[in-house]
Amino acid sequence: MIEFHDVEKYYGDFHALKNINLTIDKGEVVVIIGPSGSGKSTVLRSINGLNTISSGQLIVNNRDLADKKTDMNKIRRDVGMVFQHFNLYANKTVLENITLGPQLVLKQSKAQSQKEAMALLEQVGLADKAQSYPRMLSGGQKQRVAIARSLAMKPQALLFDEPTSALDPEMIGDVLDVMKKVAEDGMTMVVVTHEMGFAREVANRLIFMADGEVLEDSDTKSFFEHP
Ligand code: ADP
Ligand code: ADP
Repeated sequence: MIEFHDVEKYYGDFHALKNINLTIDKGEVVVIIGPSGSGKSTVLRSINGLNTISSGQLIVNNRDLADKKTDMNKIRRDVGMVFQHFNLYANKTVLENITLGPQLVLKQSKAQSQKEAMALLEQVGLADKAQSYPRMLSGGQKQRVAIARSLAMKPQALLFDEPTSALDPEMIGDVLDVMKKVAEDGMTMVVVTHEMGFAREVANRLIFMADGEVLEDSDTKSFFEHP
C-alpha cells in the first residue's frame, strides 16, 4: 500500500533521503529506527504529503503522489498521522477534538460522530475525559486522545512520529499498549520510535536508517537474532 521507488529528498543542498526503496504492505507494522537527523521523519512526512520528494516515485494506496490528479486531501484522510507533540486543539474538548474531522470531512452527523468517538475513547481508556480540555490531561492521555482522533477518520494506515518521545517515562506504557491494540486490530502502521520493546513485540518489520539511507530492512525476528 506504500511504495518508495528510488526516492531522493533535498532540503536546499542538504541530501536528506538517498535512494529509498521500500514497499509496505497492508497490515504490516513497520518500525523505523536510527539516529536523530537520519531522515526517519522525512520518510513519514513524505507518505502523507506533508513533505514533497525531490525525485523518484512514491505510491500510496495505488496513487502516485507526484500525479497532479492525486487528491492530497484524500491521501491525508486515508493515512493518519500521530505526532510527538499531539497537536490537539487546545480550545476544544476531547470529544470535540475527535468528532471534528468526522463531521467536517466524513460528513458524519453530530450524533453518529459522538457515538463513534465515545467508543474510541473507551478503547483508549479515556471515556471519562470526553468533556475535558487537553490542558487538563497528562501527556500520555493527550497522546491517547490523538490516536483516537486519528482512528475516528477510519484511516487505511497510521503513521506515528516518535509518539512517546515527549512523555514522562511512566506514561509511555499506556500509549504503547494502545498502539499495540491498534496493531492487533490489523491497522497498517509505520512507527518512528526508540522503543525497542515495542519494536520487538509488535512490529513485524524493522527499518534502520542512517544518514538518509536505509541500511537495514528485515523482519523483526531476524533483526533481533542477528543484530
Ligand atoms: P529524523 O526524523 O531521523 O531525526 P529528519 O527527517 O527530521 O530526521 O531530518 C533529516 C535531516 O533533514 C536533518 O538533518 C534535518 O535537520 C533536515 N531537515 C528536516 N526537515 C528540514 C527542513 N524542512 N528544511 C531543512 N532541513 C530539514
Ligand atoms: P522533531 O525533533 O520534533 O522531529 P525537528 O526539530 O526535527 O522536530 O523539526 C521541526 C520542524 O522543523 C519540522 O517541520 C522539520 O521539517 C523542520 N526542520 C528540521 N530541521 C530543519 C532545518 N535544518 N531547517 C529548516 N527546517 C527544519
